[in-house]
Amino acid sequence: MHRIVVIAVAVALAGVACTSNEPTEASAPAGDQPTTTAPPATTTTSTTSPATTTIPELPTASQESIGDPTYPGLGNAGYDVQHYDIDLVWRPESGEIGVVTAVEAIATDDLAEYNLDFHGFDIERLAVDGVETTFERSEDELVIRPDSSIAMGTTFTTEVTYRGVPERYDSIALPDMGWFSGPDGEQFVVAEPDAAHSWFPSNDHPLDKATFTISITAPPAWTGAANGELVEEVDDIGSVTRTFSMSDPMTTYLATVVIGEGWQIVEDEAASTEEIAVRHVLPPDLQDANTPAALLRTGEMIAVFEERFGVYPFDEYGIAVVGGFAGALENQTLSVFGREFVEAPIFEYVLVHELAHQWFGNSVTVALWEDIWLHEGFATYGELIWAEHLHGNDVYREFVAERYAAVELAEYPPPGDPPSDALFNGGVYQRGALTLHALRQEVGDVAFFAILRTFATRFAYGNATTAEFISVAEELSGLELDDLFDAWLYEPELPPLP
Ligand SMILES: [Zn+2]
Repeated sequence: MHRIVVIAVAVALAGVACTSNEPTEASAPAGDQPTTTAPPATTTTSTTSPATTTIPELPTASQESIGDPTYPGLGNAGYDVQHYDIDLVWRPESGEIGVVTAVEAIATDDLAEYNLDFHGFDIERLAVDGVETTFERSEDELVIRPDSSIAMGTTFTTEVTYRGVPERYDSIALPDMGWFSGPDGEQFVVAEPDAAHSWFPSNDHPLDKATFTISITAPPAWTGAANGELVEEVDDIGSVTRTFSMSDPMTTYLATVVIGEGWQIVEDEAASTEEIAVRHVLPPDLQDANTPAALLRTGEMIAVFEERFGVYPFDEYGIAVVGGFAGALENQTLSVFGREFVEAPIFEYVLVHELAHQWFGNSVTVALWEDIWLHEGFATYGELIWAEHLHGNDVYREFVAERYAAVELAEYPPPGDPPSDALFNGGVYQRGALTLHALRQEVGDVAFFAILRTFATRFAYGNATTAEFISVAEELSGLELDDLFDAWLYEPELPPLP
């Protein structure tokens, strides 16, 4: 993710370091936001994916926590979500949403009770396998006590019916995330790292990926969209319901809904291929001839990354442009961009950054938040790859040098284990990207890009750790790389630029 505030800092730094108004600024450096592991290192291709992944049990997991050491409160143990079905009605006249969310999960323990994460709203009904069930709410925990204990290995469905005016949410790492209502009445969700449970009950941690179906019902003048493929559109009297299917596993914070009056889902025919449908969700003033020029390069961007990272992992891609959010977030197959970015010179580089996250962050997701550089360092390195594609290796090296100078000046902390109150600090982005540059210098281009492709493929649709990335790098280079990664990821002192 990117935040424009941070970016302003980064741009200033880049300026100091020396540069014109080129891609360096793009570096959006200090500002992105976060994204998430799992065990599953199956080999996958873009077209086949596991239904979901299996959650490894962490040592401190409990019913109230999945056991993430950076954020011990997040997530829950005792079950593994397979699928979320979110059926949402948007009522612009009252600003309310009415939602039925069904959470299908497999019990990984015998459950006399279990927790979902959920914040806000009035719950009208809660049922487990169709039987209305008692529950308690304690802060952001929804504690459910089914009539009879659920046996380990059983698949069960929790259906929660709720309504209310959705609100923003101060996430554990970033203020003011969650559900937004923009200046033109547009509705949208940006939820990293833990604001998903402010709009649907969930196991809100990257480790528990699941497939999603999201239906949005709105008056005909409004267009709603969500992650994945539009599989059904039903016109009724006074409303239209659009249903979207995300059939590849997705972590909760990447689930999104966008709804706007007069918006259109616009296909980019030039960028679309047999494998990837490229479509954007655009407000009226950005449609047709007013489509931003950089957005028309999406097909080229995907092609450049497929060459370096391997096959694009999903079946769709595109962005939605919204008002009232000074950032961008890489929601799976549908990145959300604030207008501020679209109008900024760095737009092209932020487009590239959020696209790179589809491989690193969305398909391959951290197991624990401490490894967030696997998202942000990689997506930031994607900006450098784009600069190299456009301008050649000399310019790539200039940009690397500029970013190095900016990191040195800012004295960013090392990216390997960021503090819980600064998960998205500039070190995670910029020094994370420089870590990949240092690796490339050490192993050479052929091994470097083979490492990126293997990492993207082996952990596709699942989760991974820094240790697993290092293991891939050592396997493919034949080198012992612990010292390099220690110096770049964990030592306070910035290593010399190789
Ligand atoms: Zn990012």
